[in-house]
Amino acid sequence: METLEFQSEARQLLQLMIHSIYSNKDTFLRELISNASDALDKLRLETFRDKDLDADISDLHITIEADTEQRTLTVRDNGIGMTREDVVRLIGTIAKSGTAEFLRKLKESDQSQDLIGQFGIGFYSTFMVADKVTLVTRHPHSAQGVRWESTGESTYTIEDVEDAPQGTSVTLHLKPADAEDNLADYTSTAKITEIVKRYSDFITWPVRLEDKEINSRKALWARPSSEVTEEEYAEFYRHISHDWNAPLETIRMQAEGTFEYQALLFLPSQAPLDLFMRERKRGVQLYVKRVFVMDDCEALMPEYLRFVKGVVDAQDLSLNVSREILQQDRQIQLMRRRLVKKVLSTIKSMMTDKPESYATLWREVGAAIKEGLIQDTENRDAILAICSFASTHSADEPTSLAQYVERMKEGQEHIYYMTGDSRATIENSPHLEALRAKDYEVLILTDPIDEMWVDSVPAFDGKQLQSIAKGQVDLETEEEKSANEEREKDFADLLTWLAETLSENVKQVRLSTRLTTSPACIVGDTHDLTPTLEKMYRAMGQELPQIKRILELNPTHPLVEGLHKAFAERSGSDELAETAELIYGMALLAEGGELGDASRFVRLLANRLERTL
Ligand code: ADP
Repeated sequence: METLEFQSEARQLLQLMIHSIYSNKDTFLRELISNASDALDKLRLETFRDKDLDADISDLHITIEADTEQRTLTVRDNGIGMTREDVVRLIGTIAKSGTAEFLRKLKESDQSQDLIGQFGIGFYSTFMVADKVTLVTRHPHSAQGVRWESTGESTYTIEDVEDAPQGTSVTLHLKPADAEDNLADYTSTAKITEIVKRYSDFITWPVRLEDKEINSRKALWARPSSEVTEEEYAEFYRHISHDWNAPLETIRMQAEGTFEYQALLFLPSQAPLDLFMRERKRGVQLYVKRVFVMDDCEALMPEYLRFVKGVVDAQDLSLNVSREILQQDRQIQLMRRRLVKKVLSTIKSMMTDKPESYATLWREVGAAIKEGLIQDTENRDAILAICSFASTHSADEPTSLAQYVERMKEGQEHIYYMTGDSRATIENSPHLEALRAKDYEVLILTDPIDEMWVDSVPAFDGKQLQSIAKGQVDLETEEEKSANEEREKDFADLLTWLAETLSENVKQVRLSTRLTTSPACIVGDTHDLTPTLEKMYRAMGQELPQIKRILELNPTHPLVEGLHKAFAERSGSDELAETAELIYGMALLAEGGELGDASRFVRLLANRLERTL
C-alpha cells in the first residue's frame, strides 16, 4: 500500500468541500452518477473501437447501495474503470485548465457558490457528505484492480487488489445527518430516490436501487416540449455543462426527412471559464439514436459559438463515426449551418422579446460572438444584427446597429466608430470633435477583437462603417468645402514645410475638417494599421516597419493661425521647427499615444514655458 499526497490545487479544492461552502450537498450524488454514466458511455464506445476488449457490455448500469447500519452509500458502475495511473492522475490531481485562475477568483469573490458550480464540483464533492471515501476500480486492460481511499485531508492511499469487478465503485462513509448543515440521511431510500429523480432522471443508463430502476431514462430532446419542465432542462444543462446556473435560453430543433436529427441547445447566463483560454472546449454532445457518441463535437458548432452547450441526436450516423469523418461529412455540414442559423435567430429574438437576457448574454459572450464577423462570412449580416456596442449615445447602455441607424441625423451617411484602448481615450480624442459638434453618434470599440473585424465588415444596412480616425472624414457642406479649398492653397507652403520637417514621423500634413477645439490630430490612411493593432502585433513579437500616419491641423485654432503667420514672416527658423515638433507631440498625447522621445519633448516645452514667465 502506498500513501500519496494530493496536488496542492486538489488539496485546496478538497478543503473547500470539507468545510463546505456549498449549501446544496445533495448534488454529490448527481456528480457520482454523472461520472458513472460517462464511464458506461466510454466503455461502450471502447468496445466498438477494440473488438478484443475483455469487457461485458450486456447489462451496463449503475447501482446504488445504502447500508443504514454501517452508514455507507455506494455508487457502482460496470463501465470503463480506471488503471492505477488513471486514479493517481484523475483523482489525485486536477488537470482542468483554469484551476489556478478559478481558485484565485474563488478567494476574491463572495459568490463562491456560483463559481464552484461553474467549475463542476466533480468527485471531490463526496467530501461534503463523507468523512472517508473508498474507491475500487478496474480497467479492462488490467487484470488487477485498484483500491483508493482518503479522508480528504492532504493524503490518500492506493493499493492493488485482486478480484475487482469490471468498472468502479465509490463508497462513502457518511457524516451523521445534520439538518442544520443541510446534511440529509443519505442512506434513506426515499431521499436517494428523490435526488436521483430530481437530478439524474434523464441519464440514459438504468440507475438501480434495491433492484428497482429509479430513473425514467427519457431523453429530454425526444419528449414533446410541452412535457418537459424548466427544472428538467436546467438539470440536464447542469449535467452536460458543469455550470451551476440555470441556462439563459433553451433551444429545441427537429429536422425530419432524409437526414433526421433532434437538437437541444442552451445559451449560458455566464461565460464559461475557458472562453478565452487556449485549450478551450467547444461543440455540443453528439448522440446517435439516443446513444452517446462524443463530447465537444467541434464539427457541429463554429469556434465563435463555443459557449453553446447541448446535444444533437442524429438518426443516420454510424456509432463509431470519427471526428475526422464528421468534419468532412456533407450532412453534418448542413446540420451545422442550420444549428448556427437557429442560434443566431434565437439571439435576435431575445433582443426584442427578452432584452435583459440578451444584455446578459452579450455582456458574457459578446466578445466571442464578434469573432464570427471574421470567421463566418456567410452569416455576417445576421451576426452584425445581434451585436451591441458602446457608443457616445449613452454612457452605460450599449446600442445595436439598428438602433444606431434609427438615430442617424439628417444628412448623416455613415456609421461612425473609433477603436482604441478605453472609452476614456476615445472620448477625449480630438478625432471626435467635429462629430460631436454635429451631434453625430460614434461607436466606441474597445475590445481587442474590434480592431480585427472592423476591416472585414464594410457596411450594415447599406450604411458604410467609417472610422473617425482613418481616412478623410467628410462632414462638410459644399460651402465649407470651397472655403477649405481656398485655405488649402493659402496653407500650402506651410504644409509642405511641415511635412519635410516632420518626415521622420508623419507621411503627410493636411488641414483637418474633424477638429473644432484641438490644434491638431493624427490620423491613419484607410488601410493603415491602427495604433492599438500595431501595439498588439508588436507585443506578439511581429516585426513591423515603422507606420507613419498623417498629421491634421485645425486651421481655425489660434496656435495654427499663429504658426501660419510666423511661417510667412520667418520661414525655416529652428524655433519654428521646434514648434512643429511640439504640435506633433501634443497630437500624439491627445489620442493616448506615446512620445518617441519624451525627454526631448519635455525639454522643448520647458524652454517655451520659461519664456512666458
Ligand atoms: P469531471 O467528471 O468533471 O471530469 P471528476 O473529479 O468528477 O471530474 O472526475 C475526474 C475524472 O475521474 C473523470 O473525468 C473520469 O475520467 C474519472 N472518473 C471519475 N469517476 C469515474 C468512474 N466512475 N469511472 C471511470 N472514471 C471515473
